[in-house]
Amino acid sequence: MHIKNGNYWVCIDHSKKMRIQFNDEPMQAENAELIDLKITNWCNLGCDFCYQSSDEQGQHADYEEIVDTLGKLMSYQAVVEFAIGGGEPTSHPGFARIINYIKARNGIANFTTKSKSWFKDKEIVEAASQCAGIAYSCDDFEDIVEFYNLHREAFHADKFDYQGVKFYVHLIPELLGNNDFREIMAKIDEFNLANSFDSPPIHCTLLGFKPIGRGTQQVEKLPELIDIIQGCSNTSIGIDTKLANDYQEFLDQNGISRKLYTTQEGEFSMYYDAVEKTFHKSSYQLEGGIHLDKSILGYSYRKEVENVFQEIKKL
Ligand code: SF4
Repeated sequence: MHIKNGNYWVCIDHSKKMRIQFNDEPMQAENAELIDLKITNWCNLGCDFCYQSSDEQGQHADYEEIVDTLGKLMSYQAVVEFAIGGGEPTSHPGFARIINYIKARNGIANFTTKSKSWFKDKEIVEAASQCAGIAYSCDDFEDIVEFYNLHREAFHADKFDYQGVKFYVHLIPELLGNNDFREIMAKIDEFNLANSFDSPPIHCTLLGFKPIGRGTQQVEKLPELIDIIQGCSNTSIGIDTKLANDYQEFLDQNGISRKLYTTQEGEFSMYYDAVEKTFHKSSYQLEGGIHLDKSILGYSYRKEVENVFQEIKKL
């Protein structure tokens, strides 16, 4: 499908997204292309770096509210892609139905998880099989392999089926430290090389450390980060906006074009906390959250969201 968004076009399908522009102006999005959607603040994994401060006292967002908002956001093809997170999103009792709702409206769903227990839940696995990608938050290589095997068994029964749900690993390099990060990336890269003919690849997304919530540790920058990334020639590696921002100096020093990444949150996406019912620039930039009156209907709601997106961009 293709959508005109401000002064450019977005071409998107289940596995790829491309932005096309017919002039040299900076791209200006009218609407968020993607909503980062928080559906719960519940999580039982207790990570000491959790910037969401999620725990077992965390609340789930109301299911009816979520689908009401999704329906309005997706009307008129305003927003088509959702990255579902939490807390642990698979713990939400309506998780499978939320994915089904997005897919039934031709939307694209992705989610992030650190739980392995949902692989035993047939309803969730079936719903998840319609996702474009699943990102697994991992602490070490053994964790990655365990998730990979579960993922492959669930979504790539035919081992030569590369079209299924993409497998992403989320890593926070600064929490791993230089040596562990280098070792994990080398193992991922070796794995991708060795299995390139008969297994779907491991994709990596590297996340910047967010010093909010329980993320109170002192972390140090990894001066070798870019060198380590550049050494992984068999692996597709993405970086989030926080990491791009924190490492811009190193990216410049290594001649990485600024056209390949963005350091500004909220240029093309927006964060919706369905637990608090507020829109924000991103999941870690929560100042000035905007609440929308749920009685606003259809097209008016879409216009309001467009206004919120433009307001949030200025923050
Ligand atoms: S970082 Fe993720 S997995 Fe860990 S406690 Fe927070 S929500 Fe749970």
